[in-house]
Amino acid sequence: MIKALLTGHSRGLGASVAETLLARDIPVLALARSPNAELAARFPRLLREVSLDLSDTAALAAWLAAGTLARFVADADHSLLINNAGLLQPVGPVGTQDALAIARAVGVNVAAPLMLTNAFVAATAGCADRRVLHVSSGAARKAYAGWNVYCATKAALDHHARAAALEEVAGLRIASVAPGVVDTDMQAEVRASPLDAFPSRRRFEALKSEGALASPADTGRRLVDYLLSDSYGDVAEADLRDLPAPGRAAH
Ligand code: NAP
Repeated sequence: MIKALLTGHSRGLGASVAETLLARDIPVLALARSPNAELAARFPRLLREVSLDLSDTAALAAWLAAGTLARFVADADHSLLINNAGLLQPVGPVGTQDALAIARAVGVNVAAPLMLTNAFVAATAGCADRRVLHVSSGAARKAYAGWNVYCATKAALDHHARAAALEEVAGLRIASVAPGVVDTDMQAEVRASPLDAFPSRRRFEALKSEGALASPADTGRRLVDYLLSDSYGDVAEADLRDLPAPGRAAH
C-alpha cells in the first residue's frame, strides 16, 4: 500500500498534488494551517488533515514526537513525503526585512522540510520504497534581487537533497524539484510586490498577461507522475519544465 504525507494541501500547488494522490486512491496525511474543505468532503476516507503552523518548529517537533506520522506510515510498503508548503515573504533587499519574517520563512521553507524528512525516513525504515520530494524553485538556482531569503531557503532544499542522496539510505529516493511558474496565490503575491522591493516584477506580470503560467492542476499531476516514476531519485535536483512527460509507475 502507498501512503503520502504532504504539506501545504490547503490551496495552490499542494491542493492539486493532494487531489491527484487522493484520486489515485492514495491515503494522504496533510499538514497546513487551514483545512481543504473541498477535498475533505470528496475524500473523507482517504484524507486526514492536521492543522499546524510549520513556522512553529517547537510545535512541529512536538507533533512529530507524538507519533502520528509514524503510525500513519506503519502499514505502508511504499511511502511518499512531499514538502510543498512554502513562503515567499519577506520580499525586499537585505537590511529592510523584519527579523521574525526571516525566521518564519526559514522555519516553513527549510526547518520543517528537514525535520519532516528526518522523521519520515526514521519511521519508514521497513519500507521497500520511500520517496521524498522537496518543492524547490527556479529561485534556488537563479538569484533574484529582493528574494534573498526565498532564494537561500530553496537553495538549502536543493543541497539537502543532494547530500541526503549521497548517504544511500536503503530504499530512499530523494529529490528537490522546481515546479515552474504556477498560477497560484504565491504568484499573485509576486505581482503585488513593490517594484523597489522586487525589481523583476514586470517579468512575472508579463508571464501572467501572456497566459504563460502553468496551471496548478497540470503541475500537480506532473509532479506526482514524476514522483511515482521509475526514474525518480536518479538525480537529486530537477526542474519539472525540463522533464519529458513521465510514464506512470507500476504502483
Ligand atoms: P501558495 O498558493 O501560497 O500556497 C502555499 C501553501 O503552503 C498553502 O497550502 C499554505 O497553507 C502552506 N503554508 C504556508 N505557510 C504555512 C505555514 N506557516 N504552516 C503550514 N503551511 C503553510 O503557494 P504555491 O504557489 O502553491 O506554492 C507551493 C510550493 O511551490 C511552495 O514551496 C513554493 O515556494 C513553490 N513554488 C511555487 C511557484 C509558483 O510559481 N507558484 C514557483 C516555484 C516554487 P496555509 O496557508 O493553509 O497554512
